[in-house]
Amino acid sequence: MIDLKKEVQFIKGVGPNRAKLLNKLKIFTLQDLITYYPRDYEDRSKPKTLFECADGEEALIEVVATSRVVETRFGKKTMQKLMIGDETANGEAVWFNQSYLKSKFSIGKKYRMFGKIDKKYRKVQIMSPVFDEYGHTQNTGRIIPIYPLTYSLSQNVLRKIIENGIDEIYGSLAETLPEYVLKKYNLLSINQATKTIHFPAELQDFKRARERLVFEELLMTQLALLKLKYYDMEKIKGIAFSKEHKIKEMVREFPFTLTNAQARVLEEIEKDMEAPKMMNRLLQGDVGSGKTAIAMCAAYKAVKSGYQAVIMAPTAILATQHLENFEKIFSNLGIKCELLISGITKKKKEEILQRLQNGDIDILIGTHAVLEDNVEFKNLGLVVTDEQHRFGVRQRNKITKKGMNPDVLVMSATPIPRTLALILYGDLDISIIDELPPNRKKIETFAVTKRMQERIDNFIKKQIQEGRQAYIVCPLVEEGEDNNLKSVVELAEKYQKEIFPEYRIAYLHGKMKPKEKDEIMARFKNHEIDILISTTVIEVGVDVPNSNIMVIEDAQRFGLAALHQLRGRVGRGEYQSYCILKYEGNGETIRKRMKVMCDTNDGFVISEKDLELRGSGDFFGTMQHGLPEFKIANLFEDMPILKKVQGLASEIMNKDPELKLPENKLLQAVVNQKLESLGTGTL
Ligand code: ADP
Ligand code: MG
Repeated sequence: MIDLKKEVQFIKGVGPNRAKLLNKLKIFTLQDLITYYPRDYEDRSKPKTLFECADGEEALIEVVATSRVVETRFGKKTMQKLMIGDETANGEAVWFNQSYLKSKFSIGKKYRMFGKIDKKYRKVQIMSPVFDEYGHTQNTGRIIPIYPLTYSLSQNVLRKIIENGIDEIYGSLAETLPEYVLKKYNLLSINQATKTIHFPAELQDFKRARERLVFEELLMTQLALLKLKYYDMEKIKGIAFSKEHKIKEMVREFPFTLTNAQARVLEEIEKDMEAPKMMNRLLQGDVGSGKTAIAMCAAYKAVKSGYQAVIMAPTAILATQHLENFEKIFSNLGIKCELLISGITKKKKEEILQRLQNGDIDILIGTHAVLEDNVEFKNLGLVVTDEQHRFGVRQRNKITKKGMNPDVLVMSATPIPRTLALILYGDLDISIIDELPPNRKKIETFAVTKRMQERIDNFIKKQIQEGRQAYIVCPLVEEGEDNNLKSVVELAEKYQKEIFPEYRIAYLHGKMKPKEKDEIMARFKNHEIDILISTTVIEVGVDVPNSNIMVIEDAQRFGLAALHQLRGRVGRGEYQSYCILKYEGNGETIRKRMKVMCDTNDGFVISEKDLELRGSGDFFGTMQHGLPEFKIANLFEDMPILKKVQGLASEIMNKDPELKLPENKLLQAVVNQKLESLGTGTL
């Protein structure tokens, strides 16, 4: 048996010094070494004659040395020159500061060299080439892997070390996928794949190697998540909430009737809550689909059963708005809600903490502030997190620790295609609200270029004269908050001075204190401001029904999911609403992306398209937290493999949930390892 945990320093060619450099690349063991995958390949297998070589290209040549290496010195630097030739031309190989090369070549011997060609002034030079004696293939004559980072090691050294590692394991790696899986999906063996991903014989070969490795990685992750959900979670005892207090009782309090989707989701939640296991449910629903009402219903059931509930929102504005909405309903029912955000006075905070401990507060609504250690509940039974992508998994876990296995409901307004949800949230049950409340008007969306600027400004004027309000979202600035600040202030000045001097304009950005932000937001809500210019800080879900225009500057910089969320800030009242996407550039993808936004208001459709067009990878930008990290799989590119894997994973789990059958023995070991590395809480 080979020991994959063997320390990397004991691999041929490594030793203690290089081991330190490898450690910086997070390569500690033989296993880490052989799974340090190339980011690219360079084909150094197809030779050209000196005559064929073009200026500026990288080429492989087969030449005879026709001189000794001559060294010239300039100050501290040295240059090494070797005369070379083949049957078509003569030339020179040139290096800098490589004195040791002086003894490396013999006149009359044939070498392979790979490097950049310089063909000016009728002279052929190859600059700083790597080389082998003819017949050897260490650096040339084959397809060479290029590794992502090498730290202070050169590509050549790292490659040699990895090759030594592969030599050590090749043929004796234990297979991880069952025979029937390899056959059915026509996959390479683990040995073949591991060798080929580093050293493919032909450029195309790496694809099959990669497919096998991606397949394995996704399958093991998916199986681990399914196992966690269906098998391990079943064993955790949770709260069984009272069957006496049905959510139906509370639904009467709403000024509207539930949509079918809301009703269905509530049934799923109620069933979970009444069962004596921990609820771990993801509630997905587009902006405006009515998730808050669902949270209220779940909180109602928890409180009526004698427990407390906590609702976490990502910003003070949203938390405050939730509190208002909750109080409208709950004050009539004798259920006490409180707000805990960092802006409140010390005295108020102490009072809240006290009452929370006594059980005098039934529902606590707040921001990250509710996570602090001194926030203690009497008996926390339900945790709801709103807009989950803002909360890391660790925070989710931290809040659940404040109770004894409370039920957890994670609400997300980022619609995710089902395939992705299954691997990103595979340990959670998923409920989807796929229907908006009736009588919502479609938000009319227009994608425009700079030329339309004046017409747009006039259009905004007309709406404001009719008593409406507008949002203008600043370009997305990448280099951090300070630049963001500058761009929002500049844009606000421009609009106030040059375009809309007669209207009340204010701005909002991330560096403002929560209190300032709330103040501005409150003034906007009260219609003391006509146009609000802001970075993306005004969150999805902020309700100002009178505002009906959303302008997004430099819309091409935003991902579709982000645009969709921004757009969701209008269309919340009785007025026809508009979204204006100002964009630059005429690339086909940009135009396609803009068209998607104009054509549909359906977040699920948009997220599917986003995947298809996957421009900025925005998707993951907004949901980085809690994603499993993949060593080789890429969820965009590998979607076809992911689909296959998901079919297989559920087949396997249905038939053999504990992976006990002889044919699944191999999977069991790897899946258990995976579960350990995930920890129960890393997703
Ligand atoms: P989100 O899912 O974005 O959090 P909200 O819960 O804020 O959506 O709901 C958006 C608006 O729709 C709120 O004003 C809410 O009162 C209203 N609403 C929710 N459910 C319904 C319904 N079934 N019928 C009519 N209006 C509803
Ligand atoms: Mg909401």
